[in-house]
Amino acid sequence: MPVSAIIFDLGNVLLPFDYSIVIEKLNEKSSGLGFRYAEKYKQNYNVHRDYEKGLMTDSDFLDVIMEWTENKVERETFCKYFSRIFSVNERIASILPELSKNYRLFLLSNTSNIHRIYGWNDYSFLQNFEKLFLSYQVGANKPEKEIYQAVTNYTKLPYGEHLFIDDVKEYADAAKKLGWDAINFLSEQQCIDELKKRNIKF
Ligand SMILES: [Mg+2]
Repeated sequence: MPVSAIIFDLGNVLLPFDYSIVIEKLNEKSSGLGFRYAEKYKQNYNVHRDYEKGLMTDSDFLDVIMEWTENKVERETFCKYFSRIFSVNERIASILPELSKNYRLFLLSNTSNIHRIYGWNDYSFLQNFEKLFLSYQVGANKPEKEIYQAVTNYTKLPYGEHLFIDDVKEYADAAKKLGWDAINFLSEQQCIDELKKRNIKF
């Protein structure tokens, strides 16, 4: 079936990120604080998942974070540290304008309002997308089927006309299970090769 819609993941596909930046920033504030925060974050990963699913408000999330950072950092400052972890994959971003001439483009991301506002909202490549599907707005996280179905419900296209690109294999596999095609993004070149293999025009 020919591809009509290409759906991109954000983190580590279009935006490589590095969580060690926030850890370093917190360590600069107070010795070892970043490491203690990272340990709490890992041990309570459900908080991260709940926040990205829209089950917690920004304020709820920051209440927890203030505890984890031992009240040594202002909320606003934490939001900046937490979100200045992104850089742009220019090679992948650069093919979006051409792709958008031939395909409907969408973004499908597990993300949060803080990351959006303080982190990635101003990147100009976002203009190539017809619509952004963001976990905290949809109320579901990848790999939950509801988030993929939110896209399909919107496009009104057959499942087989969707091509998804995600660096997390589990998330790519979940899309395949629903009938989408999917590329498990491993590197820029591998992604470009996989697109060419499918005769995607760009
Ligand atoms: Mg990702």
